[in-house]
Amino acid sequence: MENIVEAKNLTKRYQSCMALQQVNLTVKRGEIYGLVGANGAGKTTFLKLLAGQIFPSEGEFTLFGAHQQRAQEKQRMRTGAIIEMPGFVPQLTIEQNMEYYRRQKGIPGDRVIEDTLKTVGLWEVRKKRAKTLSLGMKQRLGLAIALMGEPELLLLDEPINGLDPSGIIEMRNLLKKLNQEKNMTIIISSHILSELEQLATVYGFLDKGRMLEQLSARQLHEKCGNYLEIVVTDVEKYIVLLEKKLQHKDYLVLADGTVRIYGLEKDAVAYSALASENGIGIRGMSLKQNSLEDYYMSITKGGRENA
Ligand code: ATP
Repeated sequence: MENIVEAKNLTKRYQSCMALQQVNLTVKRGEIYGLVGANGAGKTTFLKLLAGQIFPSEGEFTLFGAHQQRAQEKQRMRTGAIIEMPGFVPQLTIEQNMEYYRRQKGIPGDRVIEDTLKTVGLWEVRKKRAKTLSLGMKQRLGLAIALMGEPELLLLDEPINGLDPSGIIEMRNLLKKLNQEKNMTIIISSHILSELEQLATVYGFLDKGRMLEQLSARQLHEKCGNYLEIVVTDVEKYIVLLEKKLQHKDYLVLADGTVRIYGLEKDAVAYSALASENGIGIRGMSLKQNSLEDYYMSITKGGRENA
Protein backbone atom coordinates (compact mmCIF):
# COMPACT_ATOMS: atom_id res chain seq x y z
CA MET A 1 0.00 0.00 0.00
CA GLU A 2 1.17 3.50 -0.83
CA ASN A 3 2.74 5.59 1.94
CA ILE A 4 0.83 8.86 2.22
CA VAL A 5 3.00 10.24 5.01
CA GLU A 6 6.38 9.05 6.17
CA ALA A 7 8.08 10.93 9.00
CA LYS A 8 11.72 10.29 9.89
CA ASN A 9 13.22 11.68 13.08
CA LEU A 10 10.81 14.58 12.81
CA THR A 11 11.75 17.19 15.40
CA LYS A 12 10.33 20.61 16.22
CA ARG A 13 11.88 22.93 18.76
CA TYR A 14 10.34 26.18 19.98
CA GLN A 15 13.04 28.14 21.79
CA SER A 16 13.76 25.83 24.72
CA CYS A 17 10.67 23.65 24.26
CA MET A 18 11.02 20.38 22.36
CA ALA A 19 7.49 20.07 20.97
CA LEU A 20 8.35 17.00 18.89
CA GLN A 21 11.40 14.77 19.22
CA GLN A 22 12.65 12.30 16.63
CA VAL A 23 9.23 11.05 15.64
CA ASN A 24 9.07 8.21 13.12
CA LEU A 25 5.80 7.14 11.63
CA THR A 26 4.23 5.93 8.43
CA VAL A 27 0.64 6.39 7.36
CA LYS A 28 -0.57 4.25 4.48
CA ARG A 29 -3.41 4.97 2.09
CA GLY A 30 -6.78 4.14 3.58
CA GLU A 31 -5.61 4.13 7.19
CA ILE A 32 -7.19 6.12 9.99
CA TYR A 33 -4.24 7.04 12.13
CA GLY A 34 -5.18 8.01 15.69
CA LEU A 35 -2.65 10.32 17.29
CA VAL A 36 -3.17 10.10 21.03
CA GLY A 37 -1.55 12.25 23.70
CA ALA A 38 -2.24 14.56 26.63
CA ASN A 39 -2.35 18.32 26.19
CA GLY A 40 1.08 19.52 25.13
CA ALA A 41 2.18 16.10 23.84
CA GLY A 42 2.90 17.52 20.38
CA LYS A 43 -0.16 16.46 18.36
CA THR A 44 -0.96 19.91 16.98
CA THR A 45 2.71 20.48 16.22
CA PHE A 46 2.85 17.27 14.19
CA LEU A 47 -0.28 18.15 12.20
CA LYS A 48 0.91 21.72 11.59
CA LEU A 49 4.17 20.35 10.18
CA LEU A 50 2.25 18.13 7.76
CA ALA A 51 -0.02 21.02 6.80
CA GLY A 52 3.00 23.23 6.05
CA GLN A 53 2.05 25.81 8.69
CA ILE A 54 5.42 25.37 10.44
CA PHE A 55 8.69 23.71 9.41
CA PRO A 56 10.81 20.99 11.04
CA SER A 57 13.84 21.89 13.16
CA GLU A 58 15.36 18.51 12.28
CA GLY A 59 14.33 15.35 10.50
CA GLU A 60 11.98 15.18 7.56
CA PHE A 61 8.75 13.80 6.20
CA THR A 62 7.27 12.94 2.86
CA LEU A 63 3.75 13.83 1.76
CA PHE A 64 2.43 11.69 -1.11
CA GLY A 65 6.08 10.82 -1.69
CA ALA A 66 7.22 14.46 -1.97
CA HIS A 67 10.31 15.43 0.09
CA GLN A 68 11.02 19.02 -0.83
CA GLN A 69 8.97 21.87 0.59
CA ARG A 70 8.02 23.14 -2.84
CA ALA A 71 6.95 19.72 -4.06
CA GLN A 72 4.98 19.25 -0.84
CA GLU A 73 3.13 22.51 -1.47
CA LYS A 74 1.66 20.98 -4.62
CA GLN A 75 0.60 17.86 -2.75
CA ARG A 76 -1.25 19.98 -0.20
CA MET A 77 -3.99 20.37 -2.82
CA ARG A 78 -4.74 16.73 -2.01
CA THR A 79 -4.95 17.45 1.71
CA GLY A 80 -7.73 18.93 3.86
CA ALA A 81 -7.11 20.06 7.43
CA ILE A 82 -8.81 21.33 10.54
CA ILE A 83 -6.06 22.41 12.87
CA GLU A 84 -7.45 24.59 15.62
CA MET A 85 -10.90 25.91 14.83
CA PRO A 86 -10.96 27.68 11.47
CA GLY A 87 -11.99 31.31 11.71
CA PHE A 88 -15.58 31.45 10.56
CA VAL A 89 -17.00 34.87 9.78
CA PRO A 90 -19.58 35.11 12.60
CA GLN A 91 -22.09 37.29 10.73
CA LEU A 92 -22.11 35.05 7.65
CA THR A 93 -24.29 31.97 7.30
CA ILE A 94 -22.95 28.45 7.00
CA GLU A 95 -23.42 28.61 3.24
CA GLN A 96 -21.72 32.01 2.94
CA ASN A 97 -18.78 30.83 5.03
CA MET A 98 -18.45 27.84 2.70
CA GLU A 99 -18.50 30.18 -0.30
CA TYR A 100 -15.81 32.35 1.32
CA TYR A 101 -13.53 29.34 1.83
CA ARG A 102 -14.34 27.87 -1.59
CA ARG A 103 -13.01 31.03 -3.25
CA GLN A 104 -10.06 31.26 -0.92
CA LYS A 105 -9.05 27.71 -1.77
CA GLY A 106 -9.75 28.27 -5.47
CA ILE A 107 -12.09 25.29 -5.72
CA PRO A 108 -14.32 25.43 -8.80
CA GLY A 109 -17.89 24.20 -9.13
CA ASP A 110 -21.40 25.24 -8.15
CA ARG A 111 -22.32 21.94 -6.58
CA VAL A 112 -19.39 21.54 -4.24
CA ILE A 113 -20.98 23.52 -1.38
CA GLU A 114 -24.30 21.71 -1.57
CA ASP A 115 -22.65 18.31 -1.85
CA THR A 116 -20.26 18.91 1.03
CA LEU A 117 -22.91 20.39 3.33
CA LYS A 118 -25.10 17.38 2.61
CA THR A 119 -22.23 15.05 3.46
CA VAL A 120 -21.76 16.60 6.91
CA GLY A 121 -25.49 17.05 7.52
CA LEU A 122 -25.58 20.86 7.49
CA TRP A 123 -27.49 21.48 4.25
CA GLU A 124 -30.86 21.89 5.99
CA VAL A 125 -29.45 24.52 8.35
CA ARG A 126 -27.29 26.33 5.79
CA LYS A 127 -28.98 29.70 6.47
CA LYS A 128 -27.90 29.74 10.12
CA ARG A 129 -25.30 32.33 11.01
CA ALA A 130 -21.93 30.99 12.16
CA LYS A 131 -22.13 32.85 15.47
CA THR A 132 -25.29 30.96 16.46
CA LEU A 133 -23.90 27.47 15.85
CA SER A 134 -23.48 24.84 18.55
CA LEU A 135 -20.01 23.36 19.03
CA GLY A 136 -21.05 20.20 17.20
CA MET A 137 -22.23 22.24 14.21
CA LYS A 138 -19.03 24.27 14.25
CA GLN A 139 -17.00 21.07 14.20
CA ARG A 140 -19.05 19.86 11.23
CA LEU A 141 -18.67 23.17 9.41
CA GLY A 142 -14.91 22.97 9.99
CA LEU A 143 -14.99 19.47 8.52
CA ALA A 144 -17.06 20.65 5.55
CA ILE A 145 -14.46 23.32 4.78
CA ALA A 146 -11.68 20.75 5.01
CA LEU A 147 -13.62 18.38 2.73
CA MET A 148 -14.11 20.83 -0.12
CA GLY A 149 -12.00 19.72 -3.04
CA GLU A 150 -12.28 16.01 -2.13
CA PRO A 151 -8.97 15.62 -0.32
CA GLU A 152 -7.25 12.23 -0.25
CA LEU A 153 -5.75 13.00 3.15
CA LEU A 154 -7.57 14.63 6.06
CA LEU A 155 -5.71 16.11 9.03
CA LEU A 156 -8.00 16.59 12.00
CA ASP A 157 -6.85 18.10 15.27
CA GLU A 158 -9.22 17.09 18.08
CA PRO A 159 -12.40 17.24 15.96
CA ILE A 160 -14.28 15.34 18.65
CA ASN A 161 -13.19 17.61 21.51
CA GLY A 162 -16.18 18.96 23.41
CA LEU A 163 -18.85 17.03 21.52
CA ASP A 164 -21.62 15.35 23.46
CA PRO A 165 -21.94 11.53 23.24
CA SER A 166 -24.33 11.59 20.26
CA GLY A 167 -22.10 14.17 18.55
CA ILE A 168 -19.11 11.86 19.05
CA ILE A 169 -20.96 8.95 17.44
CA GLU A 170 -22.12 11.11 14.52
CA MET A 171 -18.63 12.45 13.86
CA ARG A 172 -17.14 8.97 14.13
CA ASN A 173 -19.68 7.55 11.68
CA LEU A 174 -19.12 10.38 9.25
CA LEU A 175 -15.36 9.91 9.27
CA LYS A 176 -15.77 6.15 8.88
CA LYS A 177 -18.03 6.69 5.90
CA LEU A 178 -15.55 9.06 4.22
CA ASN A 179 -12.80 6.54 4.84
CA GLN A 180 -14.76 3.57 3.53
CA GLU A 181 -16.58 5.16 0.60
CA LYS A 182 -13.84 7.46 -0.65
CA ASN A 183 -10.82 5.59 0.72
CA MET A 184 -9.83 8.82 2.41
CA THR A 185 -6.75 8.57 4.62
CA ILE A 186 -7.28 10.32 7.94
CA ILE A 187 -4.90 11.44 10.66
CA ILE A 188 -6.93 12.39 13.71
CA SER A 189 -5.73 13.52 17.13
CA SER A 190 -7.36 13.24 20.51
CA HIS A 191 -6.36 13.42 24.15
CA ILE A 192 -9.01 10.81 24.98
CA LEU A 193 -8.15 7.40 23.61
CA SER A 194 -11.70 6.04 23.88
CA GLU A 195 -12.97 8.76 21.52
CA LEU A 196 -10.97 7.13 18.76
CA GLU A 197 -12.09 3.62 19.62
CA GLN A 198 -13.83 1.82 16.77
CA LEU A 199 -12.51 4.49 14.43
CA ALA A 200 -8.73 4.45 14.18
CA THR A 201 -7.05 1.54 12.43
CA VAL A 202 -3.62 2.46 13.81
CA TYR A 203 -2.74 4.28 17.03
CA GLY A 204 0.34 6.32 17.86
CA PHE A 205 0.90 7.42 21.45
CA LEU A 206 2.72 10.72 21.87
CA ASP A 207 4.05 11.91 25.19
CA LYS A 208 6.15 15.04 25.71
CA GLY A 209 6.98 15.14 22.03
CA ARG A 210 8.07 11.52 21.79
CA MET A 211 6.36 8.61 20.11
CA LEU A 212 5.99 6.04 22.86
CA GLU A 213 4.32 3.25 20.97
CA GLN A 214 2.47 2.50 17.73
CA LEU A 215 -0.08 -0.26 17.52
CA SER A 216 -2.66 -1.50 15.09
CA ALA A 217 -6.26 -1.48 16.34
CA ARG A 218 -6.01 -5.24 16.64
CA GLN A 219 -2.85 -5.12 18.73
CA LEU A 220 -4.39 -2.49 20.97
CA HIS A 221 -7.46 -4.59 21.56
CA GLU A 222 -5.31 -7.59 22.34
CA LYS A 223 -3.44 -5.53 24.92
CA CYS A 224 -6.67 -4.19 26.32
CA GLY A 225 -8.27 -7.57 26.51
CA ASN A 226 -8.43 -9.80 29.53
CA TYR A 227 -5.46 -10.40 31.72
CA LEU A 228 -4.90 -12.85 34.50
CA GLU A 229 -3.50 -12.15 37.94
CA ILE A 230 -2.08 -15.11 39.79
CA VAL A 231 -0.46 -15.24 43.22
CA VAL A 232 1.84 -18.25 43.60
CA THR A 233 4.13 -19.59 46.31
CA ASP A 234 7.24 -19.53 44.10
CA VAL A 235 7.21 -16.60 41.68
CA GLU A 236 10.71 -17.15 40.28
CA LYS A 237 10.02 -20.76 39.38
CA TYR A 238 6.60 -19.90 37.96
CA ILE A 239 7.86 -17.26 35.53
CA VAL A 240 10.63 -19.55 34.30
CA LEU A 241 7.98 -22.19 33.54
CA LEU A 242 5.74 -19.57 31.96
CA GLU A 243 8.48 -18.58 29.55
CA LYS A 244 9.87 -22.06 28.89
CA LYS A 245 6.80 -24.27 28.90
CA LEU A 246 4.12 -21.91 27.62
CA GLN A 247 6.47 -19.65 25.64
CA HIS A 248 4.68 -16.71 27.21
CA LYS A 249 6.76 -13.56 27.69
CA ASP A 250 4.06 -10.91 27.98
CA TYR A 251 3.72 -10.76 31.76
CA LEU A 252 4.61 -8.52 34.64
CA VAL A 253 5.52 -9.19 38.25
CA LEU A 254 3.95 -6.55 40.50
CA ALA A 255 5.69 -5.22 43.61
CA ASP A 256 3.68 -7.56 45.86
CA GLY A 257 4.70 -10.62 43.82
CA THR A 258 1.45 -10.99 41.90
CA VAL A 259 2.11 -12.23 38.36
CA ARG A 260 0.00 -10.40 35.79
CA ILE A 261 -0.27 -12.27 32.49
CA TYR A 262 -1.30 -10.30 29.39
CA GLY A 263 -2.28 -11.49 25.92
CA LEU A 264 -3.92 -14.68 27.12
CA GLU A 265 -3.68 -17.24 24.36
CA LYS A 266 -4.86 -20.18 26.38
CA ASP A 267 -7.69 -20.92 28.72
CA ALA A 268 -7.04 -19.57 32.23
CA VAL A 269 -6.87 -23.17 33.48
CA ALA A 270 -3.60 -23.69 31.58
CA TYR A 271 -1.93 -21.01 33.72
CA SER A 272 -3.08 -22.52 36.99
CA ALA A 273 -2.20 -26.05 35.85
CA LEU A 274 1.31 -24.80 35.09
CA ALA A 275 1.72 -24.06 38.80
CA SER A 276 -0.08 -27.04 40.29
CA GLU A 277 1.57 -29.59 38.00
CA ASN A 278 5.00 -28.30 38.98
CA GLY A 279 4.59 -28.27 42.73
CA ILE A 280 3.85 -24.56 43.05
CA GLY A 281 0.98 -23.51 45.28
CA ILE A 282 -1.68 -21.02 44.12
CA ARG A 283 -2.84 -18.47 46.68
CA GLY A 284 -5.21 -16.64 44.39
CA MET A 285 -6.14 -16.11 40.81
CA SER A 286 -8.44 -13.66 39.01
CA LEU A 287 -9.27 -12.69 35.46
CA LYS A 288 -9.37 -8.92 34.87
CA GLN A 289 -10.09 -6.48 32.09
CA ASN A 290 -7.67 -3.75 31.06
CA SER A 291 -9.65 -0.83 29.67
CA LEU A 292 -8.34 1.42 26.91
CA GLU A 293 -7.87 4.26 29.37
CA ASP A 294 -5.99 2.02 31.85
CA TYR A 295 -3.69 1.01 29.05
CA TYR A 296 -3.12 4.58 27.98
CA MET A 297 -2.36 5.63 31.56
CA SER A 298 0.03 2.72 31.99
CA ILE A 299 2.12 3.64 28.97
CA THR A 300 2.14 7.40 29.50
CA LYS A 301 3.13 6.97 33.13
CA GLY A 302 6.31 5.17 32.23
CA GLY A 303 5.11 1.75 31.27
CA ARG A 304 3.74 -1.22 33.04
CA GLU A 305 6.64 -1.38 35.48
CA ASN A 306 4.82 1.28 37.47
CA ALA A 307 1.50 -0.48 37.40
P1 ATP B 1 -3.00 20.43 22.91
O1 ATP B 1 -4.02 19.36 22.90
O2 ATP B 1 -2.93 21.16 24.24
O3 ATP B 1 -3.01 21.35 21.73
P2 ATP B 1 -0.78 19.12 21.68
O4 ATP B 1 -0.48 17.69 21.93
O5 ATP B 1 -1.45 19.47 20.44
O6 ATP B 1 -1.60 19.67 22.91
P3 ATP B 1 1.20 21.03 20.94
O7 ATP B 1 0.23 22.14 20.78
O8 ATP B 1 1.76 20.41 19.72
O9 ATP B 1 0.58 19.89 21.85
O10 ATP B 1 2.38 21.57 21.86
C1 ATP B 1 3.53 20.82 22.17
C2 ATP B 1 4.46 21.66 23.04
O11 ATP B 1 4.98 22.74 22.28
C3 ATP B 1 3.76 22.28 24.23
O12 ATP B 1 4.64 22.23 25.33
C4 ATP B 1 3.53 23.71 23.80
O13 ATP B 1 3.53 24.58 24.91
C5 ATP B 1 4.71 23.99 22.88
N1 ATP B 1 4.39 24.97 21.82
C6 ATP B 1 3.47 24.83 20.86
N2 ATP B 1 3.45 25.90 20.04
C7 ATP B 1 4.40 26.75 20.50
C8 ATP B 1 4.88 28.03 20.09
N3 ATP B 1 4.39 28.65 19.02
N4 ATP B 1 5.87 28.59 20.81
C9 ATP B 1 6.40 27.98 21.90
N5 ATP B 1 6.00 26.76 22.34
C10 ATP B 1 5.01 26.15 21.66
